Amino acid sequence: MEHFDVVIVGSGAGGGTMAHALSGTGARVLILERGETVPQEAENWDPAAVWKQQRYRPKELWLDRRGRSFMPFVHYVVGGNTKFWGSVLYRLRRDDFEAIEHADGVSPAWPIDYDTLAPWYDKAERLYQVHGQQGTDPTDGDRGPFPYAAIPHEPAILELVERMREQGLHPSHLPLGLVSPGLVGGCILCSTCASFPCRIRAKSDADTMCVEPALTSETVTMWTGACVQRLVTDASGRKITGIDVDRNGETVLVTAKTVVVACGAVNSAALLLRSANERHRHGLANSSGLVGRRYMAHMATMMEAFHPMKINSTVFQKTVSINDFYRAGHGRPYPLGHIQSQGRAHGAIVQSVAPFLPRWACDAFTSRGVDWLAMSEDLPRASNRVTLEPDGRIRVSYRPNNIGPHADLVRETRRMLKRIGYWTVITHSFRVQNTTHQCGTLVFGNEEKTSVLDPYCRSHDVDNLFVVDASFFPSSAAVNPGLTIIAQSLRVADHLIRNELN
Ligand SMILES: Cc1cc2nc3c(=O)[nH]c(=O)nc-3n(C[C@H](O)[C@H](O)[C@H](O)COP(=O)(O)OP(=O)(O)OC[C@H]3O[C@@H](n4cnc5c(N)ncnc54)[C@H](O)[C@@H]3O)c2cc1C
Ligand code: SF4
Repeated sequence: MEHFDVVIVGSGAGGGTMAHALSGTGARVLILERGETVPQEAENWDPAAVWKQQRYRPKELWLDRRGRSFMPFVHYVVGGNTKFWGSVLYRLRRDDFEAIEHADGVSPAWPIDYDTLAPWYDKAERLYQVHGQQGTDPTDGDRGPFPYAAIPHEPAILELVERMREQGLHPSHLPLGLVSPGLVGGCILCSTCASFPCRIRAKSDADTMCVEPALTSETVTMWTGACVQRLVTDASGRKITGIDVDRNGETVLVTAKTVVVACGAVNSAALLLRSANERHRHGLANSSGLVGRRYMAHMATMMEAFHPMKINSTVFQKTVSINDFYRAGHGRPYPLGHIQSQGRAHGAIVQSVAPFLPRWACDAFTSRGVDWLAMSEDLPRASNRVTLEPDGRIRVSYRPNNIGPHADLVRETRRMLKRIGYWTVITHSFRVQNTTHQCGTLVFGNEEKTSVLDPYCRSHDVDNLFVVDASFFPSSAAVNPGLTIIAQSLRVADHLIRNELN
């Protein structure tokens, strides 16, 4: 049995950032990560290895609401899903923190406002080296300048941007976390970024920016291959007294003054449900009954605009954002969502979702296509939830909502691309399998009855339990979640340093 001041479960956006923030404090910190470090190897940038052979995906299957098994879009590695992210690092928009009327109901208010998180967003953008340009996105509000200048659009993208402006739209630069783009030893702005690990460690992921530097501190340790099975409490149920870890097949018990769970929204909820005991019959910290409920993951559609005569020579395509429809559009008064250009699709990627197509057809298609993502907010529903089967398997029961606004957003995007001159726009959605933006399963709030965590992400029920991953989101907004997880993790770390670790 080993004792630490803080045990962090998971090394992704929330956990990795927390480890970094605590690394200079002298506190004895242990990171427990079920996965291993992704090796730097040729396959990192090989679309066939990543997409067809699923080289970096776990073999684990989850069940959907009908009991059908599916492969979730998750990665169990050091750095978590950030190793594979597109590194689009957005702040939520100021009014995302307030209650907003949507076509399908109300997106609830957060227990903190934008101004509370703003200083932590500033720190998060510096830590993850976010490149952007303030003032061109109509939803940017009163934010200050980005710490690093925006990544310039490549010529073909610049032309598209001009054509969008002619349509009265306000395209802006996507905020991107990249290490020294264009400089010696830095990011080379390649075509295999989103969904691929960076072979040269130039992506601002939690491993590169936080875990690796944190481990240079003598007081921070990481165990890989260490999957937490259960959290054990004392007889009162108010304190975690042990952490059961499966460490490469061996069961180990770890103790800590403070436990920070950051397994991702689905696995954190699953861990608390697995940790049910006499005092917590329906799952640890579940007096509200909300553990695992309110699962959200965004409505997302991949869109490829195609013109048979136009070869797309762009390499790094992921630089444009359109937020003109974020609050209204398509003649309707409710929010539609966000549009962003995507990394280049590759023939092997298309073939992995359409295996009946010959490879030459997939290559011909992607070489003439430009890739986009349309993303809308989905609303928290108690019935959309994570549960455990009797054999321990995870079930994600998810019925999409806010479908109408998302369909309108896809229509607006298609219309925009057709006006530019593309012949056709092909769409694809991974539906429930798209667990990339999972959030909301351990909501934070002021009231014990209506939330699992308090505004500093401490469990209302268990005094030494904190959760700093995407679980705490009361609403999903319609921009990428990563920077908000990082900012809140930094805020909670500061709270721990001031109140718990002395
Ligand atoms: C392909 C892809 C592209 C994406 N692109 C973007 C983007 O451009 N911008 C953006 O903001 N977001 C993006 N996301 C989403 C983003 O990666 C996630 O929102 C973010 O990583 C979630 O952070 P987290 O801390 O909640 O969990 P994660 O980062 O997933 O970390 C969870 C960690 O916990 C570990 N773990 C799980 N269970 C246990 C256990 N029982 N014991 C020990 N360890 C455990 C996992 O192995 C993992 O390392 C993308 C995701 C994917 C998959
Ligand atoms: S080199 Fe740059 S663009 Fe390519 S994977 Fe690495 S961070 Fe992404």
